[in-house]
Amino acid sequence: MIEMQDVTKKYPNKTTAVRGISVRIDQGEFVYVVGPSGSGKSTFIKLMYREEKATSGKVLDVARHDLLKIKNKEVPFLRRDVGVVFQDFKLLPRKTVYENVAYAMQVIGRKPRDIKKRVMEVLDLVGLKHKVRVFPSELSGGEQQRVSIARAIVNTPKVLIADEPTGNLDPDTSWEIMRLLERINNQGTTIVMATHNKTIVDTMRHRLIAIENGLIVRDEAEGEYEFDD
Ligand code: ADP
Ligand code: ADP
Repeated sequence: MIEMQDVTKKYPNKTTAVRGISVRIDQGEFVYVVGPSGSGKSTFIKLMYREEKATSGKVLDVARHDLLKIKNKEVPFLRRDVGVVFQDFKLLPRKTVYENVAYAMQVIGRKPRDIKKRVMEVLDLVGLKHKVRVFPSELSGGEQQRVSIARAIVNTPKVLIADEPTGNLDPDTSWEIMRLLERINNQGTTIVMATHNKTIVDTMRHRLIAIENGLIVRDEAEGEYEFDD
């Protein structure tokens, strides 16, 4: 599904953020990626959607494409198979909720009729059908994150990658987002989520990959958080 073999990422400034990581994540898994700040979590997950390119090793995506070999102009096509959600939502401020979600389908050339049907379907799934005409600035943080999740899954990707998706949200809202991610996972989507949220990790148990200093130091079926931050 997603596979890394002896992957290293060295940034141009000589920082080595990932040091020879090998890992396999199968279809349908829910995986937390945890570790101290600066340990390499973001870099590790950015390698999975080719936001960063590995310096050496092998990164295979869901379609068994070798991400070190694909050309930059092929990256947008790859992104159809992988949805991404960020801590700060990254919604387009001048587009409505509907337009933010529809845009992800427009850029890959889907038909207007298919777009309308599918956008309403995912907005219903995230509970925001009544907010289609609203702009992001008019929404609460939790609602904005739900829009960003709708956008990430609208093209039915096999994998949803989330970089600290609850990082800007209060505890109740964070749990709502987690329940939504779990529902998406139960429908068959693989979820890889970097997080600092000990309470969530220790309560809603899933596979846990702990990274320290660019290395995987633990990989456990239902692991606990175990860091002090
Ligand atoms: P985490 O997500 O665990 O905080 P990161 O993957 O963001 O860790 O960072 C790992 C290391 O790589 C850190 O030392 C960080 O400063 C460095 N780093 C991250 N991104 C870049 C970049 N674009 N250029 C140079 N160094 C970077
Ligand atoms: P939360 O407690 O989740 O942060 P808020 O108190 O921010 O929620 O928002 C509660 C409701 O008010 C939400 O339905 C949101 O859409 C609406 N809302 C929040 N801010 C604005 C705004 N600036 N304009 C219009 N509606 C807003």
